[in-house]
Order: sequence, then C-alpha cells, then structure tokens
Amino acid sequence: MTTLKEVRQRAEADAKMHGYALNPDEEMLQGILKGLKRNEERYGYPSCPCRLATGQLEKDRDIICPCDYRDPDVEEYGNCYCALYVNQEISEGKAEVQPIPERRPPQKLEQAYTSGGPDSAPEPAAKPAVVSSASETNLKFWFCKVCGYVCFREEPPHKCPICGAKQEMFSEILLGMNWMTR
Ligand code: SF4
Repeated sequence: MTTLKEVRQRAEADAKMHGYALNPDEEMLQGILKGLKRNEERYGYPSCPCRLATGQLEKDRDIICPCDYRDPDVEEYGNCYCALYVNQEISEGKAEVQPIPERRPPQKLEQAYTSGGPDSAPEPAAKPAVVSSASETNLKFWFCKVCGYVCFREEPPHKCPICGAKQEMFSEILLGMNWMTR
C-alpha cells in the first residue's frame, strides 16, 4: 500500500520536474495528498481528489494525477484545480491560491454521475427529481474540491466536515442537460 510519504514524494518529484511547487499551505496540502492516497487505494490509481471518479480507468484517465488539465491551469491561473501544484509566485507567497474554473469537458464530468461507478452520486435515476426539487427550494449540490465530499444544501458549509477545507474550496455542481461545475 502506498504511504502518504510516498504520495508526497511522488508529487514533489513531479513538481520539481515541471518547475512547479506544492501548495505552501501545509494543512491544505495534507488534505489533498490524503485524498490522492485514498483514491489510489479505492480505485488502484490516484484520481484527482477534487473530482468525482467513475472507478473505471478508461473514463478516469484524464484525471489521474497529475491530470491533463494541470499544466494549462497552472499556466493560466497559477495553480491546478485542487491547488496541489502551484507556480513559484504562489509558492513564494507573492500570490494566493484561487478557486479556478473547471477545465474538464462537461461530458467527462457527467459520466462520473451516470456511470454507476463507486463515486456516482447522485444516482442517475434520482437526478431529474433532484433538479426539480433543487429549483423549487434553492437547494444545490456542492462538492469539496479538496476531498470530493458532496452535500445538498442552500450554501456550502463554512468548513468541509471531512477534510476541513474552507468554504471557498466548495464548488456548485450544476445539473441539467448540459451541466458542469464552476
Ligand atoms: S487538479 Fe491537481 S491534484 Fe487534481 S489531478 Fe490535477 S494536478 Fe492532481
């Protein structure tokens, strides 16, 4: 079984190779590394801890860390979607990690919810009802970009009950014909 130390060493080596750094916020960093370790144990590969996986390698290949979206995200925003990898400016405290838009195509996102895989919450059959209910009550789906925790409420929690990430690390999951996260 891969240890947390090994997950960290692997990320550090990859960051070094590409001229990046790991998130300088140790608490946030630990949460992301634990998420990677948990996903590796669960699926057999370290899928992104900020995204829902299907548990099927072929469908999740683009979100195996480092994901296909890391380089353009670090280039454009200074950090990857989870903020595991950051640029030198953030690493040196000259800029801050920011929540960034999801670059993964909506079709890819949707398959995590419709595949019936281990992380396929909400269940496809429940989706239309949930959409209807949400529009009537202002309830929304939110997910923690650090650990993947999903909740259904009007506002995201102030603190993730699983990993302790701050409220700004939550993103709304938009459901519908062409839903996507933001
Ligand atoms: S967003 Fe960051 S942590 Fe998530 S898979 Fe991509 S590189 Fe890894």
